[in-house]
Amino acid sequence: MRSNGMTLMTCFAHPDDEAFGTGGTMARYVAEGCDVYLVTATRGEAGESVVPDLTTPANLPFVREQELRCACQVYGIHPPLFLDYPDGLLPIIHQGQAVGKLVRIIRELRPHVLITYGPDGIYGHYDHIAVHRWATIAFDLAADPECFAGQMEEGCEPHQVDKLYYRVLSEERLAAMTEDGGPPAVMMDGVPFPIIGRPQDEITTIIDIGDFAEVKLQGLQCHVSQIGYEAPFGESPEGIVQAPWFRQETFQLARSTIGWPEVLETDLLAGLR
Ligand SMILES: [Zn+2]
Repeated sequence: MRSNGMTLMTCFAHPDDEAFGTGGTMARYVAEGCDVYLVTATRGEAGESVVPDLTTPANLPFVREQELRCACQVYGIHPPLFLDYPDGLLPIIHQGQAVGKLVRIIRELRPHVLITYGPDGIYGHYDHIAVHRWATIAFDLAADPECFAGQMEEGCEPHQVDKLYYRVLSEERLAAMTEDGGPPAVMMDGVPFPIIGRPQDEITTIIDIGDFAEVKLQGLQCHVSQIGYEAPFGESPEGIVQAPWFRQETFQLARSTIGWPEVLETDLLAGLR
């Protein structure tokens, strides 16, 4: 694949968080020649395995790391970078250290586009909200040579990412998922936390990933300990790749150095090519 010189970086909390919302987008931009990286804060060891035979509490982080490596290979992106933080405890991690780690990665990889969760963390997961905050602040600080100045002494250069996108679901999309049998809520500690949809006018960007829906499903299916061996939501594999909500990924542009789109964007690199 010939490089087009563009770099995308995604940043999430747990293995599999990348899959539903950005798996197709990552595969699409790899196919265009972009360098695509995924930063994951934890190894997902606090969750339960839906395939108990496959895991023990001791090996769960290793299994989930391997599942994420598998997914990254499927998408065609670089191997995942881990922040090595404990699953479920991100809100009490030293915030300055976490932001500093992300600033350093941004200065090393020099992405044009950064993607993370919106402020709702999809369904309010504290780890997601923590990563949203870290990534947003890191976007703002990575260009400032006064911030984490010690990194410059170690060879880093300041870097201004051009665009920051939040991965968000529209209310309409959520309703369509629910009609298709998808979950309106995610269970956390025995409580169903509703997935949060955003009003349509907050969605700035819709990425058509229809050509990569199969790849996205294969990436999802790498996460066996999280979703099992079946296609998600009780769908057949053929059914889910044809579902319109599965074939589009939606984003909200949150920061831009190149102005604001006047119409709905269909390309994360709009204005940067
Ligand atoms: Zn998660």
